[in-house]
Amino acid sequence: MKDFSNQIANREPSRDVEITDINTCVVEGNFEWNLITVETDAGVTGIGESYRGGGVPELVEYTKRFLIGENPLDVQRLFRRIVQEMSGHGGTTGKVVTAASGIEIALWDAAGKLLDLPVYQLLGGKFRDEVRIYCDCHAGEAYAVDDGYTEYADAEAYSPEAYAAEARRVVDMGFTALKFDLDLEADNDPDPFNGRLTNGAIEHKREIVAAVREEIGSEIDLAFDCHWDYSVESAKRLACELEEFDLMWLEDLIPPENMNAQKEVTKATRTPIATGENRFRVHELSDLLYDHGVDIVTPDPTTVGGLGETMRIADRAEENYIPISPHNVCSPIGTMACVHLGAAIPNFDVLEYHALEVDWWDDLVERDEPLIRDGYVEVPEAPGIGVELDERVVEAHRLEGTAGF
Ligand SMILES: [Mg+2]
Repeated sequence: MKDFSNQIANREPSRDVEITDINTCVVEGNFEWNLITVETDAGVTGIGESYRGGGVPELVEYTKRFLIGENPLDVQRLFRRIVQEMSGHGGTTGKVVTAASGIEIALWDAAGKLLDLPVYQLLGGKFRDEVRIYCDCHAGEAYAVDDGYTEYADAEAYSPEAYAAEARRVVDMGFTALKFDLDLEADNDPDPFNGRLTNGAIEHKREIVAAVREEIGSEIDLAFDCHWDYSVESAKRLACELEEFDLMWLEDLIPPENMNAQKEVTKATRTPIATGENRFRVHELSDLLYDHGVDIVTPDPTTVGGLGETMRIADRAEENYIPISPHNVCSPIGTMACVHLGAAIPNFDVLEYHALEVDWWDDLVERDEPLIRDGYVEVPEAPGIGVELDERVVEAHRLEGTAGF
C-alpha cells in the first residue's frame, strides 16, 4: 500500500509545524454551512468549509485520529492521506471527499498564514485582481429547500413577470450575471417520474426566459438551472427552444450519472450546457471534458476535493478549451476560497453567489465592507484565504444541537 503518512523528516525548523486539533461548526444559513478549523502548534488556525449534508462533521471528526501531528503545509499529500485512510470506511468519493474538501481548504488557509502568502499565490499566482460573481436568484417567493426537499411556492411566484422583476432588482444591485431555477412544480405533470416535459411546460419556461431577457437586455449574462430533472429528449427540446435567448448556460438538464446522455444533450444544441456540481474528484469529470460533453464545467470545490482537485479539473478543462465556473452555495469562507481559485486558473469564468436572502452573510467574517461589490470580489492580499470568522456571529447562527468551535 502507498503510505501517505508523514515520512518527510527533512524540513526547515520554522516550517516544522504540527496540526494539534480539528473542529467543525455547522452554521445555519440558507444552507447548512460546514465550517472547519485546523489548529496548529505555531499558533495559526486555518479555516475551511465543506459542502452541506449529513455526516460531514462526523467524517471530519474521524480524521483527527490520523491528521493530528501531521504537517499542515503538505496540503496535497494530506488530501491523499484522507482519501486513503477513509477509503476502507466509506469509499473514495462522496461525503468522504466532501469532508476532505473542507479540511483541504483549511490547510491552504493555514499554509498561507504560516508562509505569509495569500492562497492564490500558493496556487501558482493570479490571472486577475477581481473575480466576477453571478448571483443565484429566485423569482417571487419561489421555492425553498428545506431538509433536502423542494418546497414550491404558489403559481404566481413562477410567473414570467415575477422572474423579470427579480432580475431587474438584482441587476440594479450591480450584478452583471444572473441565474434562476427553471425547474418548476408543473414539470411533474402529468407524471412526476419520467422526466418528460409537456409542450405547455416548455412554453412556460420559454416565456420566463423571454421575460427576463427582455427586462435585462442582452449584455447581462443569464443562466438557468434545471436540477437534473429531464429525459434526454425533453432536455434537447428545451435547450433548442431557448437558443434564441443566448444564455450564459443551461445547467443540469439531465441526471448526472450518464456521460453519453450528457454528451448527447450538449451536442444537440447551441445553448451552452453546464454541469459538474455533484461529481467527485477529477475522475468523475475527466470524460466529460475530454469528450466535450459539457460547454462550461461547474464543479463545487467544497464537494469535489478542495482547491487542489479543482485546479486539476481546471487544467483538464483548459486543455480542452472549456471554461470553469465553480458552483458555490457557501458562507464567505468557502466563497473566498473559491475567489483565490478563480484568481489562479486561466480558464475561470464566473463564481456563483447563492446567499442573497441571508442578510448577515457578510457579518460572518470580520470586515467593514461587503465582500461583493458591483458583482465582483477583490482578490485578497492578506495571508491565507484572507478572511477571519466573527465568532459571535458564528455562534448566533450555529445549528442547534451541533458543536461550536
Ligand atoms: Mg445547480
